[in-house]
Amino acid sequence: MKKKNLAIDVPYLQTFLVDLLNTPSPTGYTQQAIDLTRQALEAFPALHISQTLKGSLVATWRGQRQDAPRALTAHVDTLGAMVKEIKANGRLKLSKVGGFAWSTVEGEGCTIFCQDGATVRGSLLLTKASFHVHGNQVIELKREDENMEVRLDARTTSNEETRSLGVEVGDFVAFDPRVEVTNGFVRSRHLDDKACVACMLAAVKALHDAGLQPWQDTTLLVSNYEEVGHGAATGFPTNLAELLCLDMAAVGEGQTSDEMHTSLCVKDSGGPYHHGMSQHLRQLAKAHNIPYKVDIYPHYGSDGEAYWRAGGNVAVALIGPGVDASHSYERTHLEALEATARWAALYLLSE
Ligand SMILES: [Zn+2]
Repeated sequence: MKKKNLAIDVPYLQTFLVDLLNTPSPTGYTQQAIDLTRQALEAFPALHISQTLKGSLVATWRGQRQDAPRALTAHVDTLGAMVKEIKANGRLKLSKVGGFAWSTVEGEGCTIFCQDGATVRGSLLLTKASFHVHGNQVIELKREDENMEVRLDARTTSNEETRSLGVEVGDFVAFDPRVEVTNGFVRSRHLDDKACVACMLAAVKALHDAGLQPWQDTTLLVSNYEEVGHGAATGFPTNLAELLCLDMAAVGEGQTSDEMHTSLCVKDSGGPYHHGMSQHLRQLAKAHNIPYKVDIYPHYGSDGEAYWRAGGNVAVALIGPGVDASHSYERTHLEALEATARWAALYLLSE
């Protein structure tokens, strides 16, 4: 078996990642990000690419064998919001998409996607934002739906004026990612899970560049509903044997994961992952000097579990780069991304 030391094209990974991060894709409004990913995958002639009715992207890749087909998945959807209400003062009340704290996006710029295709810019603020007007209430006010609003960068002070801009209840809202790469650190919102979509592409490119074919028939699924819990519940072939889920590792107090390593998650809120598959991944990492950690994530669910819950009868394991301040202003490092991509590529080649 040809187990070359695969080269991950890190500049390629970084360029695609930054493009994807700058493409808004709150859950439910992901087509642009799916299109960008599809374009990138189309560079690899060995892949057969399609899109599911649910909107996820599926690429199939002929392996050397067909007796135990494998899949990789990562999700392109992110946290975001929808317009819940147009207030009498012309500002917007939001409904969250996905699980996060308002404090993590307080003061952030945002874009509202109107029905007619137009966009309106604004920012998310506390309803009592001015310290010079509200004093200590700025500190004390609870960051909950009632107390947060979008101030639009347009001349409006009424419900009617806002509606005349084209804004309606149900419009999607994306928060600015604020992407910055410094000293190898990638700081941005929504590294969860765009970082892993980029790792998946870099893994495919590594095999492609080396002229290698995966060991088993392989499905790549870019899911689009993970942040609300059912992303990869569907979209895999019925004869699938193993699913490797690529999603960020949770970094923080008490965690082994960090931004310079990739992690193998052996348990999260959904319980333990598949022990045999996790062992296989550990052996690969050790044999090829992948800088990895083993960790447990206390408040976490993955698309692998979404597939299990939907009845998927396969082994599932989870790996991903350490991401600091997850579901907030996130950060990881290119070393963790490279390690994740290399691990995924080695897995595809492994017997
Ligand atoms: Zn995620």
